[in-house]
Parts: sequence; C-alpha cells; structure tokens
Amino acid sequence: MHNDDPAVTLITPTSPVSAPTHGGRAKCLQRLVRLDLPVPRTVALSFDTVQKIAQGSMPDVPAILEEFPDGALLCVRPSSEDPDWGGPGAVLNIGMNDARFADLTEKIGQDAAAQLYMRFIQAYAAHVARLDPDMFDGIDGAGPRRLAQALAAYEEEAEEAFPQSTAVQLAEVLRSMARAWGGTTARLLREAKGAPVDAGLGLVVQEMALGVGQAECGSGVLQMVNSDTGLPQITGRYLSQSQGREALSGPEAIYLERDTRGPSLEELAPEAFAALKVNGALMRRKLREEMQIEFTIDNGALFILDGVRVRRSPRAALRIAVALANDGIISRQEALMRVEPRALSELLHRQVDTAAARDRLGTGINASPGAATGRIVFSANAAQASAARGESCVLVRRETSPEDIRGMHAASAVLTERGGITSHAAVIGRGIGLPCVVGAARMRFQIRRGLLTAEDGRTFREGDVITIDGTNGEVLAGAPPMIEAALGESFKTFMAWADEERDIGIRANADTPMDAQTARNFNAQGIGLCRTEHMFFEADRLTVMREMIFADAPDDRRSALEQLLPMQRADFTELFRIMQGQPVCIRLFDPPLHEFLPSDRAGLRDLAEALDLPVSDVTRRVEAMGEYNPMLGMRGVRLGITVPEIYDMQVRAIFEATIEASRDGDPVVPEVMIPLVSASREVELVRKRIDAVAAAVKAEQQTEFDYRLGVMVETPRACLRAADIAAHAQFLSFGTNDLTQMTYGLSRDDAGRFMSEYVRQQVFPEDPFHILDIEGVGELLRLGVERGRKSRADITLSVCGEHGGNPESIAYCRQLGVDYVSCSSFRVPGARLAAAQLAIRDAMKASNMPIP
Ligand code: PEP
Ligand code: MG
Repeated sequence: MHNDDPAVTLITPTSPVSAPTHGGRAKCLQRLVRLDLPVPRTVALSFDTVQKIAQGSMPDVPAILEEFPDGALLCVRPSSEDPDWGGPGAVLNIGMNDARFADLTEKIGQDAAAQLYMRFIQAYAAHVARLDPDMFDGIDGAGPRRLAQALAAYEEEAEEAFPQSTAVQLAEVLRSMARAWGGTTARLLREAKGAPVDAGLGLVVQEMALGVGQAECGSGVLQMVNSDTGLPQITGRYLSQSQGREALSGPEAIYLERDTRGPSLEELAPEAFAALKVNGALMRRKLREEMQIEFTIDNGALFILDGVRVRRSPRAALRIAVALANDGIISRQEALMRVEPRALSELLHRQVDTAAARDRLGTGINASPGAATGRIVFSANAAQASAARGESCVLVRRETSPEDIRGMHAASAVLTERGGITSHAAVIGRGIGLPCVVGAARMRFQIRRGLLTAEDGRTFREGDVITIDGTNGEVLAGAPPMIEAALGESFKTFMAWADEERDIGIRANADTPMDAQTARNFNAQGIGLCRTEHMFFEADRLTVMREMIFADAPDDRRSALEQLLPMQRADFTELFRIMQGQPVCIRLFDPPLHEFLPSDRAGLRDLAEALDLPVSDVTRRVEAMGEYNPMLGMRGVRLGITVPEIYDMQVRAIFEATIEASRDGDPVVPEVMIPLVSASREVELVRKRIDAVAAAVKAEQQTEFDYRLGVMVETPRACLRAADIAAHAQFLSFGTNDLTQMTYGLSRDDAGRFMSEYVRQQVFPEDPFHILDIEGVGELLRLGVERGRKSRADITLSVCGEHGGNPESIAYCRQLGVDYVSCSSFRVPGARLAAAQLAIRDAMKASNMPIP
C-alpha cells in the first residue's frame, strides 16, 4: 500500500501532512477534513515526490488511483508552501475517456458528459501535451460529433491517440505540473513574491465533485468579507453546470446571497447556501483567517473543494486582523503581525485604484507615497496661482529648492527630474503627505519651454492632466480612478494595540503647525526634529531674511533679526501648544545662507528693489556668497559660530515661546539642537551663548523654565568623537541623512541619477538613503551610540534621519539601544507598527513560540 510511502499521503485528520513538506493547500485541506467538512477524498504528494517526478521518477500511480472509487474523475492542484507563491493551474476531469463518457451519458445526460470530456481534452492538449490551443478553433456542433472531431484533431496534432488510461493521464498531468514549477517564468514570478530559490511544490489529487449533471449542480466561490474594504459581506458567484472557478468569469453566474440585482443561490438552493454559510463561519473561526472557499453543488449536495486566504487590500488586511482579534479568534499580537508596516502608509493616502488601467509616461523613485492628479505647472508661482483658482496641479521641476516650498504646499503632487530619496522634494513631500516622484531622469524636462516629454516620446504642456503615483514611482497620463485614504476606528484600535507592545519611542519630524498637527493625529510622542529654516520661506519673512543676510554691519543685522524674532516666537508657541507638553526638539538654523538668496534675474531684481541697491551690487554679493560645495561649507554650527546673532535670536524665540505656551498650557521643556557638529569645542562655544540667552530671558521675565541642549550627530567625526561631545550635551540625535552622505561621499541631491543603476548592478544592495547601510554608516552609528552612552549614562539617544521611518533601520536602532526614532509624520504609524512587531517577535522568540 502506498500509505507506507510518506511521499503519497491520503489526507485524513491524522495523516502526516505539513505545509513545509506538502504545501499550504494540502495542509489547509487537512484542516478542513478535521473540521468534518464535506471535502472530497484527497491525496497529497510531497515536495520531494514532486521533485522526483520532475526528474523523471514517477511514484506508484496505480496506488494513488486505488485510493479513489472506481471510475471517479480526479483533479490535480498545486500546493506550494505559501499559497501566494502560486503554481501551475489545476487540471480537472482526469479519467475522462470514451468508456467514462458512455457511463456518464447514462447518469448525467449526453450533453453534460460531452462537456466534461471536451473540457478535459482541451486542458490536456494545452497544459500537458503543450499543443496550440487554437487547434480546436474550427470545431463546432455539440455532443458526440464535436467530441469525435476534437479527438481526431488531438490525434493529428499530437501524432498519437488521446490517452484512454486514467493512470497514463494522471502520470502525464503530474509530470507536466512538476516540470512547470521548474520553468524560468514560474521561478521568477514566485521569487518576486518572496519565495526562496529552492521553494518546493506539492500536488494534491482530489476526487471531483462534478458540478455538472441532472439535478442542481454547479460550482462557485464564496468569501465572507469584501477584499477591498475588509468589511463583512458575502461576496462571490455561483454558476449552475460549471466547474472550478468558472463562476467568477461566467456572465450568467448568479449572486450568492439574495440580491436585488438578480437571482441568487440563496433562492435557488437555500439549504446548500445555508450550509455554505455555516461552513464558512466555521472555517473562519477554526482556520483563524478569512478564507475564500471554492465549492461545488452536486445533485443538491454541497462539497468544499478548497480554501485559500482571501486576497486583500492593505485597508482590508487591517480591518480583517482587528475583527479576528476582536472576535477572540486570534490574539492582538498576532493581529499586529499580520499587517505589513509599509502597507499602512497606503492607508494614509489616496491611491490609484489597483484595478485601473495605467497609461505609464515614466518612472522614477517613489519618494513620497500616495497618488494625485492635476494639471502640469512648471513653477512654484504657477502652482500657487492654480491653487488660488481651486484647481489641482502637479508641480514639475528639475529639482526643488527651499524657494519652491510654497508651490509644493499648493500642489497636489510633485515630479522632479533629479534627486533621490532624501532630496529636498522627497523630504518635504513625505513631511506634508504630498505624493512625489523624483529622479525621473528618463523623461525630458524642458522647464523654460513648458514641455514634459514622456519616456515614449509623447509631449505634455502646462495645463495637461497627469497623475503622480508616489507609491509606485510612476507618472501616468490622465486621471485614473482612485481609492480614498481610510482611517477608521479599526485603524485607531490597531495602532493603540501596537503602542502597548513597542519598546522604542517614535517621534515625528515636523516643521510647521500643520505637520505638528499631523504628528499628533498619528500619536507621535513628540517632535524629534523641527527644521527651523523652513519657517523662513513665507513671503514676508524671506525679504527680512535677505536683509539680514545682506547686512553689512552687526547693527543692521540685529535690526533684521529683531523683526524675525516675534515671527519665530509665534511659530514655536504654536508648535508647543499643538504638542501639548510633549517634547519638541528644535534644530537651530542649518542650511547655507545663500540658499535664501535669489538665483534668477527676476529674483535679483526684486531683491535689489527691496534693498534699494543696484542690481549689480546685489548680484556681486550673491556671487560672493556662493560656495563650491555648500553642503560641506558655511552651514549648521559653522554659521552659529561665525554669525552667532542668528542662533541668539532663535534660542531667545524658543525660550520666550516656552514661557508663553507654559503659561496657559502644559509645561514645556524645549529641546535645542545644534546641527552639523564635528568638534566638541563647537558645542562648548554655542552652549555658552545659549545658556547666557536663557539666563537673560529668565531675568527679564522673572520666570524659571527648563530646557535641554543636544547635538545632532551627522558627521563621521562627530560619531567618532561622541564621547567628548556627549560631555556637553543632554541628548544626541543621529542625522543619518547627512551621515550617509558624508560616509559614502555621496551627494543626497545627485545620487538619484545613478542610484537605480547601482542597485541594479548590486554595487549597493539598496539605496543607502532609504535603508540604513548597517555595515558602514551603521558602524559609525554604533560607535557614536556606544561612546556617547559610555561618556554620559543618562544621555538620550535618537535617530532623526529618514531611516527613522524604515522598519529594517528601526530594528537596527532598537538593537543598539536607541531611545527613540523620529521620521516624517506620515511614516509614524508604520514606524509604530514596525517597532511593535520587533518587540512581539523578540517576546515570542524568548518563549519559544512560533512567530506568525
Ligand atoms: C539628517 O541629516 O539626517 C537630518 C535629519 O537633517 P537634514 O535632512 O535636514 O539634513
Ligand atoms: Mg542633516
């Protein structure tokens, strides 16, 4: 008996079947058998057996056939370890031959019998004999005449008669399916879904419930939730006189539940429908999952042929997980493990409908998720004008600079030719939840001429409608249908569960009151990085800022700074109020000053007017401020040391805002952060001035307040010298964007041009601006953390570069013992979930529990 052969196993409640040896489908069928569901008799072939079949060694096929009643028709289905990895298509009605046709003609009528035979011949010809499917095209008529023609056509094309032996048919089907698994296309497809190179395939051989015959017969597919929304809803179709999944494509298929739009199975076969619902609910409870059920009704009796996990959108995945946990079917921890952190960001933004046709114009880096449609504009001014008209627009630029910020706020999406994942457009886009594709270098950007040329040569002008899909990094023509963002009760519940589990803090990078509000809405535990320079780009401030930059004498500069002071104070007061006593870490001015100066002629003229100077003077001054390498030049703390009045003004504004916000709200303890430090002496000097300003403000206002002073560690030297620096700082925040740039010597703004090629050729495994380079940048980070902590045990350590929102990078930071990570507001939920999953995984490992 083949039962001695573990490679071929009849599925019973106790037979040795497991997903790693026989595949997910075989295991699922065993669970259904254990539930005593009406599952037709099934035999499972292990991965080893199938591999041997592919190599030409067939198991004992007659022994397989012995497991089934004489004359039964069979089907074979694939059973890969993870059902998502797919497999060759099922082959139904194995065993059909001339004799069986005659038998069945008696039992179910000639037409039905001929239909089964015909289907099998066609499937066998296409999938097993690999004949051209068109060979049956000219064959018409019905019943035996049609069959005879089909058999003759088969014989002519295959140069042998259609096999009549069930054993031969089954052996050939098994062989063709086993071999298909080894084909290149199949391998690439499953590897793209995460299957390992050596992923195995099992096969299940199942007795057919025919679905075709005299009384009510047919087949259908049922699931109890909606795949898009995750809400409970009986969905699926049933088709009389059909097999397999035909109901899903047949236009005559009927609804399952009573429906005003047409007839239903509930009306046609109420008992079978009721049984189906009961079985569906049982499967959900016992398999601990929403399942799609393939069923057949044979002479009024219900058979369950198969169950597969319901396909689901990210929002449905979350709702399903929450509902299963709320119903006590799975634990909260398991619910948390069932949703991908990356999928959460899709919930927070509108997306192009997955079913929509995509007219692709170009691709770039998916810098900020979500999708938006709008008319093309080529300048920030045009974007603002468009917003003023209430028209949605896509801002198309070669790259963006701080001057474009207002235009970005006005636009619905941004597309740039240059830039990478941490370029200006990308960072701002993620911060404000604006869909953004950067580095679309294969499209042609003629900004002055107002032309955008697609990769295929089509041209688009200002006003033409395009769509930016920042989730997939694609530029699409026109306005495809969208799915709205969804943040319902399930989302809130789910995130609250995540917060109960995680053991690393999550803050948000937020620069404006709007960002701060988003950060609060997403339950960030404070602001980890407020980049103050973004506050100076409002039209009224930019002019004052430029006056300050142009000031010749300290007095002139002071007067400009005095104008900026109340504006900054108001900014910080508002941020503190929104954050309601949660920590707010404010980074002092970081970029090179010349970024605030105009670069085109019109801008220079405007500035000359504002300053009442000749254009030539202004141009000369702007040129004189230019640097060969501004990112490595006069910026960050270097500016703080050489033009200290700017930092003086900023810290005064912070402290005055602290007093003001604490007066009518929760007490505020501001955190002041010094950027781009490379030597401890820089901190010492700046610190002295900050302490002096604090003392002055306290004395003037006769009020006490606390503040914390910290350093942004983003140069390699600062990591190496973290011990000296920590002596002067209460916290260190690692800026992994600049640290990556400086460790690799790789420009954040230019790397987009070659990054995809570098990743394609595996020079870098990933874009290091996107996923932290553990080997190199991570090593510096580790040194910085260790040295900082050793020098000052109570120091707070954090990471505030974009990596703070990336699950793999969060795992590394957590391992290093970093106290919190900070990332763009819209990435906060994903980071909270990723952190929770890390903690759950560790807890499960510690108690030897299987990790879901
Ligand atoms: C960094 O460098 O990692 C950082 C957070 O600062 P920015 O991106 O503003 O340079
Ligand atoms: Mg930086």
